Amino acid sequence: MIIDCHCDALSKMWSHRVDFNDDSILDVSYQKWMQSPVKVQCFAIYVPEHTPTESKFAVALHMVDLFFEKIIKPFANIHFVQTKVEIESLKPNEKGAMLTLEGLDCIGADLYKLRILLQLGVKMIGMSWNSANLAVDGIGEPRGCGLSSLGRKVIELANQHKTWVDLAHISEQGFDEAVELSDHLIVSHANSRSVCTHARNLTDKQIRKIINHSGLIGITFVQYFVTTSHRATIEDLLRHISFILSVGGENHLVFGSDFDGTDQFVENLSSINQYGSLQAAMKQKFPASIVEKISYQNFINHFPD
Ligand SMILES: [Zn+2]
Repeated sequence: MIIDCHCDALSKMWSHRVDFNDDSILDVSYQKWMQSPVKVQCFAIYVPEHTPTESKFAVALHMVDLFFEKIIKPFANIHFVQTKVEIESLKPNEKGAMLTLEGLDCIGADLYKLRILLQLGVKMIGMSWNSANLAVDGIGEPRGCGLSSLGRKVIELANQHKTWVDLAHISEQGFDEAVELSDHLIVSHANSRSVCTHARNLTDKQIRKIINHSGLIGITFVQYFVTTSHRATIEDLLRHISFILSVGGENHLVFGSDFDGTDQFVENLSSINQYGSLQAAMKQKFPASIVEKISYQNFINHFPD
């Protein structure tokens, strides 16, 4: 059993206008998911950066509709999950789908738009994508600022709603501030910067802060977050896990594949039905208890209920 904290299938379904059973386009499609050991998949609402500002919230709502109409409604064995109990009540043949948000661009300066998304079932609030928004700067914004007062209000709202605050893509200043304020922390898709130099990866100091604040780190399979060389193997990916384990991350590691978020993945790990190869390699290298923690138990243990 595996829980995956981040994929962009929804965004791809929206931009490519494809159904959830389109295997040729989607890394996370219905059939591929059914063939995989993934029990719960998080589906991120990611509104592409080029979308005109005035359309962004409408696009986010369109993706919420796709989530319910194309992923939940047509398939009797896929359940919309929002709580730990709902995840634990899934029967062996059933899968859980969670709705998450990647970046606050789509709310502009309007907190009510975020409240609407929370009412619709969003359970993880990604503070930013790479660029800046009105809540906080992303890691790609040279200004590198931290939280605005809107950003602080977003975190307050997340805490009230017992919702995860996702710090993937956030600026370093924003990270430091948000870590202190958030009750339920996750970095849904990032690796270690000591193992692979990339601005999207976490510094040792950031990893320590997440551990100290009882947060989660979602190991991600994007090739250029795994290694600086032109090809990435599962062995390269395991180095990130080993490193974070070595600094005390045993109870803080989860997976956040980023399937459908890029075309460049670790070899033999480019779609959800290939999770088995990672599972096998994990079992060879780590004790069963650690494999279980990373695969699903850490996520369940930290679930904000
Ligand atoms: Zn992302």
